Amino acid sequence: MADYDVVIIGGGAAGLTLAHHIGEVNERRGRPLRTALLEPPPGPHTPPPRTWCFWEEGDGLWEPLLAARWRDLTVVGADGARHRSAADPYRYKMLRSDDVVAFVRGRADEHLDQRELFVTGLSDGPEHATVHATDPRGADVRLTARWVFDSRPPAARSGGRTTLLQHFRGWFVRTPKEAFDPESAVLMDLRPPQPSTGVAFGYVLPLSSREALVEYTEFGRSVLSTAEYEAALDAYSAAIGLEDFEVVSSEQGVIPMTDAPFPTRVGRRLFRIGAAGGATRPSTGYTFGGASRQAAAVAEALAEGRTPIPPVPYRARHLAMDAVMLRALDTGRVRGSDFFARLFAGNRLGDVLAFLDGASSVRRELAMGLTTPVAAMSHSTLDHLWYVLRSRAGRTGRGLNGAGGSSPR
Ligand SMILES: Cc1cc2nc3c(=O)[nH]c(=O)nc-3n(C[C@H](O)[C@H](O)[C@H](O)COP(=O)(O)OP(=O)(O)OC[C@H]3O[C@@H](n4cnc5c(N)ncnc54)[C@H](O)[C@@H]3O)c2cc1C
Repeated sequence: MADYDVVIIGGGAAGLTLAHHIGEVNERRGRPLRTALLEPPPGPHTPPPRTWCFWEEGDGLWEPLLAARWRDLTVVGADGARHRSAADPYRYKMLRSDDVVAFVRGRADEHLDQRELFVTGLSDGPEHATVHATDPRGADVRLTARWVFDSRPPAARSGGRTTLLQHFRGWFVRTPKEAFDPESAVLMDLRPPQPSTGVAFGYVLPLSSREALVEYTEFGRSVLSTAEYEAALDAYSAAIGLEDFEVVSSEQGVIPMTDAPFPTRVGRRLFRIGAAGGATRPSTGYTFGGASRQAAAVAEALAEGRTPIPPVPYRARHLAMDAVMLRALDTGRVRGSDFFARLFAGNRLGDVLAFLDGASSVRRELAMGLTTPVAAMSHSTLDHLWYVLRSRAGRTGRGLNGAGGSSPR
């Protein structure tokens, strides 16, 4: 018999959410699932605390832990035009990773074994998979499990056409006087100077009338130095009229945005979840919502005794649209600031959020497409179709247009 029913590798967003759902499954099942959650001791492989923003309808799993929740969101165009509206039917929410860690680990039942292990390798098998790891003293450890869910950050992906980096730095600021409207967050402010390709924007997520997360973000090919982010944050703070404030803490990160495929099943008993399992929406970098939906589906399959293959939380047509959009941004065919300003100005905010979650209808998506720079996006779509056809023809060994057909670019 295997040591565990389930081993979860990584106690980040995906691993913790899955562990939490399995606890709920155990309450429903006669026989609880023996589960291990593996996380290395703090060190170079463990990410620093971060905030996770996402949106959902009504109250959700993390309601008691939320650092903030907003109904109204504002998008500011490069020309300063402000579009404030309710995110109905959604609420935009912020969680701190530390709070999720404490909550899930604190409530874990006796069926969840929390182990400090650094995973070094995996092997598959017909009856069980084996996890190879080292403990904090450097000793080798082997664990067997019926199902293994791996959320270690993905290695650089191959197979995609375009990869951009969403890179950012944010300040948690505190002001001596009231400076923020806690009822409304700025989702995207496109006034910062724009790079020649990609997009740059700031945003402001108020935690109270005197505290907020003020962030500067770019979608582009390469990250900035900390000094460059600080200069961009200085400029953005000045642009929004923030003068007298204290920086209490900061967060910085990089999220790859790629059209590379992310298989979620990598063996008979080995699966990937979270960012490693395709939970990042390529066009936005949002991951938390997708990882949550994926974890809930896995837990449901485990509860019902099905093979728990993690679903990719986005539809194929949305991933294709994202590939077109990433390409259009990366080539500079579309100005990012123009694209996003038009998208948010021309559509109901709730519809855009539904689309970004993969929950919109084709009819709505077509209408939305018409509000973006149509000529440039059509050009990019044709270019992408051509690329897909050529790649397929290459794989089947049949040339398109004879040898070396050229793209319509
Ligand atoms: C600063 C920052 C802010 C972000 N904010 C948002 C946001 O607001 N909204 C959003 O949707 N997305 C956000 N993201 C993107 C994404 O949601 C997060 O990166 C999220 O943490 C991804 O969840 P995950 O479980 O896939 O990976 P992680 O949360 O990174 O978890 C992976 C885990 O694997 C562990 N691990 C690594 N190596 C090993 C090993 N060898 N053995 C065992 N365990 C290992 C790590 O310690 C870690 O705990 C943000 C990313 C960053 C970097």
